[in-house]
Amino acid sequence: MKRRPIIEPFRIKVTEPIRMTTPAERRRILEAAHYNLFSVRADDVIIDLLTDSGTGAMSAEQWAAMMRGDESYAGAKSFFRFQDAVQGLTGMPFVFPTHQGRAAERILCSVVPLQGKVVLSNGLFDTTRANVEAGGARGIDLSLADALTAHRPFGGDMDLEAFDRAMEAHRDRIAFVVMTATNNTVGGQAVSLGNLTAVSERCRKAGVMLVLDACRFAENAYRIQQDEPAYQKRPLPEIARAMFDLADAFTMSAKKDAIVNMGGILAVRDEALAENLRVDLIRTEGFPSYGGLAGRDLEALAQGLHEVLDESYLEYRFAASGYLARSLIEAGFPVVTPAAAHAVYVDAGAALPHLGPGDLPGQSLACAMYLAGGVRTCEIGELMFGEHGPARQLVRFALPRRVYTQSHVDYVGAVAFDVAEVKAKLPALRITRGRGVRLRHFVAEMAPVSPFPFE
Ligand SMILES: *Cc1c(COP(=O)(O)O)cnc(C)c1O
Repeated sequence: MKRRPIIEPFRIKVTEPIRMTTPAERRRILEAAHYNLFSVRADDVIIDLLTDSGTGAMSAEQWAAMMRGDESYAGAKSFFRFQDAVQGLTGMPFVFPTHQGRAAERILCSVVPLQGKVVLSNGLFDTTRANVEAGGARGIDLSLADALTAHRPFGGDMDLEAFDRAMEAHRDRIAFVVMTATNNTVGGQAVSLGNLTAVSERCRKAGVMLVLDACRFAENAYRIQQDEPAYQKRPLPEIARAMFDLADAFTMSAKKDAIVNMGGILAVRDEALAENLRVDLIRTEGFPSYGGLAGRDLEALAQGLHEVLDESYLEYRFAASGYLARSLIEAGFPVVTPAAAHAVYVDAGAALPHLGPGDLPGQSLACAMYLAGGVRTCEIGELMFGEHGPARQLVRFALPRRVYTQSHVDYVGAVAFDVAEVKAKLPALRITRGRGVRLRHFVAEMAPVSPFPFE
């Protein structure tokens, strides 16, 4: 029997046109944007792989659920549907909606005392780190030293030896521990349940709160099901539940694995902590039964949490990223493998050895992908993290959920092939404005030291 491709497990009922641009137009656009792809208008992008955050396509069921949105100020039906969905999935008793993931982080970080403390993590996402540091704590990443090069299934794990040493060294100064699943700062690699269990046991023994950054819990659960022998063939909701059971709290951007365009979740087990979070939530986000969201958003979020654990969806999602990874490798780019579901990460430092970290090789490659074919990607390296970050210079090709088809991915592969042909000639970029600003990658202005090799 002929091998059958893994297909997109959905049909398309609503379409959005893509505006085609010419190379000359893109040169003007990128220059006007000061070589910062966050400053390029979406309408000037052909394939937008900037992020998988809030860029997914909602299902017919989600749109239908939105029509049921109850917009009552307090105690809306939509809140109880949201709460049931989150509690049913995670077992967390105290659940709050927030307008996005970073709001959940900010509330947690303003309620838990952080001044002079440390937060240990397998890898803090940039907004999480910013919130932890704004509270006066130091964020310490304890990811595996070879996470990006070892090509093992669970590169997102915490380095347990380093974790034990840090727990010992900082003892009473640990505000909490964060496990990010999947681990966005190390190539979106998954975290094993074995590692999560080991971290959780140590935290419980030491009386330290373990917070799960659960943005991509479903994609992480699928990797566990595929690659962790003890959990093979177990139903995905069961694996997801096992992940949440190990944590005392979680923050989540619903813009990722709840497949909505806006929303976040904060949930905890401890009642006294919940009381304090509720006060801060009311002060800054809204009443606890809507938390910065409309009733219809809560409906779509609840439905999305259910859809995301569909096995055929996750199988297709990993097939798509694996296919993109293979086409980038065929084009001649070193890629972090196994590919995450939400993105493929190209090692721009290795691909452009003529550029040092200060030359922003990742940004140079990202600009080249835009100039060559209108493909928007995102630098994750020196520009994003400066000297504090992981030493690697990566470019992330993020895949919005249920948006692009295989021919779109083929197009990206073809553009990458053209860029690979001139990669030795890609220029260094210099930051001309916004160098010292926090989260500078969103706002910095740059200029190439010599012209890009595209006419
Ligand atoms: C996106 C993301 C966040 C922040 O969520 P927002 O909804 O963008 O505020 C936090 N952690 C991780 C791992 C993320 O990917």
